[in-house]
Amino acid sequence: MVLRACRVCKYLTEGKKCEMCGSEDLTTKWKGVINIVDPGRSEIAKELGITKPGKYALSVE
Ligand SMILES: [Zn+2]
Repeated sequence: MVLRACRVCKYLTEGKKCEMCGSEDLTTKWKGVINIVDPGRSEIAKELGITKPGKYALSVE
């Protein structure tokens, strides 16, 4: 299983397209996983600009 990170919103997906924003600009070069459950209450989510729950990469190349 290869997880790819979306370069636009950092969402992690197994598919060829980001399920969050629809972008096909995905990369396997990413670091760190963050699981956002409640974006409204998460400081990290605010910092990364995440508004929807899900698994995200901390940094994307
Ligand atoms: Zn995306």
